[in-house]
Amino acid sequence: MSRPNGAGSSKSATFLTMGQDLVELNVGENGTPFMVHKDLLCSQSEYFRRAFNGRFQESEDGFTHVTDVSENTFKIFQQWLYGQVARGATSVKTSFERLMVTDNPMRNGKDKNEAGNNGNAGHSYSVDSDDDNDDADGEQDEQVEEKSEADKRYHELIDCFLDLFIFADRYETRQLRNDIISAMRNYNSEIGYFPTLECVPKAFEHLPATSTFCQYLIRTYAWNWNPATDGKDEIDNVYPLLPHAFTLNVMLINCRRANSFKKKKYDDMLVAELIDLCNFHEHEDEAARNDCKASKEHDKVFLRNLLVSCMPVVEMPQDKPNT
Ligand SMILES: [Zn+2]
Repeated sequence: MSRPNGAGSSKSATFLTMGQDLVELNVGENGTPFMVHKDLLCSQSEYFRRAFNGRFQESEDGFTHVTDVSENTFKIFQQWLYGQVARGATSVKTSFERLMVTDNPMRNGKDKNEAGNNGNAGHSYSVDSDDDNDDADGEQDEQVEEKSEADKRYHELIDCFLDLFIFADRYETRQLRNDIISAMRNYNSEIGYFPTLECVPKAFEHLPATSTFCQYLIRTYAWNWNPATDGKDEIDNVYPLLPHAFTLNVMLINCRRANSFKKKKYDDMLVAELIDLCNFHEHEDEAARNDCKASKEHDKVFLRNLLVSCMPVVEMPQDKPNT
């Protein structure tokens, strides 16, 4: 019998430390079977940890049903889950490395320089751009068409992240929730986009308003939302669906900013809140928050992997006609 690795902690299992027992998850409406390493699954999900280690039937049977999740969402989860094996093996510093970091002055100097280069300033989400005024009409039409295609793809990508986050919320997988926020926010700042309004009703329907995803939407919209740029489609079809918890919180933040004598202070606070990803993460404690910040560089490759694993899902419905 194997024991779950690091129960109650956010440490991932590795192949060196975990048992080889497999459990079966029957996913989606068709109940497609997926075999997963039990310890790995349980090290990331409170839900599955309880199901497979408690006195539940699943624990005896070695399988459970996950009918409320699509196969695509589960495949992305599986891809992320097995990526955690390498993450767990490399992200935790050995005692020797800790010793080197503490005692070696050259090493400390290097760390300082690296930190200095990671300032990551200027995280503006503004989508306003007045640079295109000189373009010819035809070019503009083409650009508008390309932009709407890009908008559509981008919305599908965010929808994919949202489905995954709903899964991670339901099946209590905190590290995945944190990673989704990081991957999404990093990509947003890279391309200068922020989630479209269409995703708001779905997010608030399936997630608590206190969830980091919803809080990220509230603050992002408080800072970026310019209703004057919303199209008729959004006004007619999306506005009526916007939940009160969303509109009220956006309004409260902006009322405070608009009516305060210290407007700049509130603006700076909101921007600072948006820039620091850890404000939209869930950490066990302050030490975990510090670890999370320290592993920002190391985690980039895993976040990139998560982003890329969502891309085929975005492309799939179109199946590339190539014309
Ligand atoms: Zn964090």
